[in-house]
Amino acid sequence: MFESLSDRLSGVFDKLRGRGALTEADVRAAMREVRVALLEADVALPVVKDFVDKVTERAIGAEVTRSVTPGQQVVKIVHDALIEMLGGTGEALELGVTPPAVIMMVGLQGSGKTTTTAKIAKRLSEKERKKVMMASLDVNRPAAQEQLRILGEQVNVATLPIIAGQQPVDIARRAMQAAKLQGFDVVLLDTAGRLHVDQALMAEMQAVAATTDPHEILLVVDALTGQDAVNVAQSFAGQVELTGVVLTRLDGDARGGASLSMRAVTGKPIKFAGTGEKLDALDAFDPQRVAGRILG
Ligand code: GDP
Repeated sequence: MFESLSDRLSGVFDKLRGRGALTEADVRAAMREVRVALLEADVALPVVKDFVDKVTERAIGAEVTRSVTPGQQVVKIVHDALIEMLGGTGEALELGVTPPAVIMMVGLQGSGKTTTTAKIAKRLSEKERKKVMMASLDVNRPAAQEQLRILGEQVNVATLPIIAGQQPVDIARRAMQAAKLQGFDVVLLDTAGRLHVDQALMAEMQAVAATTDPHEILLVVDALTGQDAVNVAQSFAGQVELTGVVLTRLDGDARGGASLSMRAVTGKPIKFAGTGEKLDALDAFDPQRVAGRILG
């Protein structure tokens, strides 16, 4: 995770750490290298610019040049600014409502949405002892509903029985009724994905949201797609009231561009990170831990 970015940055900071004193020019030279490292990591350009400006200003303002361990002080300033860029303190799901709490999962096909739905269901049922139900509203991909049913069996979470031919809004309505009648705490709705952001997908999502009034609308995006993931998030955020983002495939993401740009560009918090194919490979996204990992 984030290996290539981490390597680049530690190269920059090793040089600074070795110095007894730093001039303003040293700080500026280091920040030029940080800028290149972030751009190579596929962080969005305006985000990089803000970050470098902020760190430069703080580093020079803090009179790093006179500090006992100037290199370390710069690293600390970068560390704190990284945490801010990643969203500060982590944000949990908002489930403290009269049950059932509704979590709607949205995203493009192949992003890992269905797997992530099952991962969240498992986490809520095992760690938080919630009574959870999942329902697949994906009537476009023939095997999608069956895929969720099988995942439900694997994680020991109930799924709404499949009725062939039923349309998404009707399935959502049936899921809500079943959850109320059977006393479920949480209902996870796995909506259909498409290959591209298109109007049919957005209209269907909006109709489901209008019917179920979700407490959380989580967008699942593939971290490996870098800035594309951020662009997808912006498109979705313009159409539905996203409450957060789940980044998948962080296990294979050496660069980190999506993680670092997401919050600043979209204003939406990253709530979870997918870290593998297994159904327990899901972490609450913790900006402090991620920043620590990036800076080694
Ligand atoms: P969907 O079309 O968006 O519902 O995608 P799926 O949930 O079917 O996932 C597509 C593939 O991505 C599956 O093989 C998953 O196991 C895999 N996948 C999902 N999340 C992760 C993750 O965090 N890391 C890795 N390595 N694979 C993942």
